Amino acid sequence: MQSQHILTLKDIYLARQRIANLIRKTPQMEAPLLSKDLGSKVQLKLENLQLTGSFKLRGASNKILSLSKDERRRGVITVSSGNHGRAVAYVAREHGISAVICISEPVPTNKRVAIQDLGGELIVGGANGDQAMEFAYKYQETHGLTMVHPFDDPYIIAGQGTIGLEILEDYPEVDTILVPLSGGGLCGGIALALKSADPAIHVIGVSMELGPAMVESLKAGKIVDITESPTLADALAGGLNRDNKYTFKMIQKYVDETVLVSEDEIAMAMSYLLEKHHLIVEGAGAVGIAALMFNKVSKLSKNTIVIISGGNVDMQHLIRISQIHQHYQFKKNM
Ligand SMILES: *Cc1c(COP(=O)(O)O)cnc(C)c1O
Repeated sequence: MQSQHILTLKDIYLARQRIANLIRKTPQMEAPLLSKDLGSKVQLKLENLQLTGSFKLRGASNKILSLSKDERRRGVITVSSGNHGRAVAYVAREHGISAVICISEPVPTNKRVAIQDLGGELIVGGANGDQAMEFAYKYQETHGLTMVHPFDDPYIIAGQGTIGLEILEDYPEVDTILVPLSGGGLCGGIALALKSADPAIHVIGVSMELGPAMVESLKAGKIVDITESPTLADALAGGLNRDNKYTFKMIQKYVDETVLVSEDEIAMAMSYLLEKHHLIVEGAGAVGIAALMFNKVSKLSKNTIVIISGGNVDMQHLIRISQIHQHYQFKKNM
């Protein structure tokens, strides 16, 4: 792929072939309570059960496996809110490549520990994602490393897009999809796969109310800076770089609707997934469920799927959340 390569479905198939031995094909599960309440069959795509605890392994594997011998020898660097860094550290360790992971101060302890356990060299590069990104690019230049960008890279986007292929195989009836949205690698890749199969599939990007960089940028018609705030959806925090090459345009082109969810709504969705599905899901992974529970979506058709994107949440924190937020009432109980 050249630097300004236009991504196609073929790149996603190539990614699938490249990463097949490193990733898990994740299961899909129906959510019968939501299906009944909403009058649409709701399926969950469980990327919280992916190796390393999030879908980020798909893109990270595709990128790192595409590097030259020389690039592998010199090592890789990335900047991450946690999950991408963990995935990069995992793939790098599997292939004997050294990895530097730049994070920002708000990245939670459980994510830092997981990166270090995999042998990643952890550097706190600033107070927020933008600062950590700037630090990482400088460090990359002075140390001759290869950047494994968390979202704005054709290999990363194509890797995340492999989820779309699995959905088309397991749930070809799908007409509506909800995808957690931050930098847009996940949503862009999946949307490319699904819209290539059927442009009528309704793609909904879901972000948190506190600092939704992509949604604000879509509204403005250009990339805008946001103020990063603490949020339960920590994996969705952070800005888009102004020199964004791929994801902003892809999200503009493919995403039909964006919705925002509040912190209470995210907590309620995490609690619901734990209690009713026995699933451990982090805040970012639960935003699609929050959007459905609180009727944020303009219309639903017959066959909906929600991407549950990650499960890397501190267990004590999840237990506290589930004790406080047990008040969601289903309209039609089973
Ligand atoms: C990174 C991440 C996202 C958002 O992915 P983007 O490609 O940045 O939009 C969503 N959920 C989880 C759990 C993540 O780690």
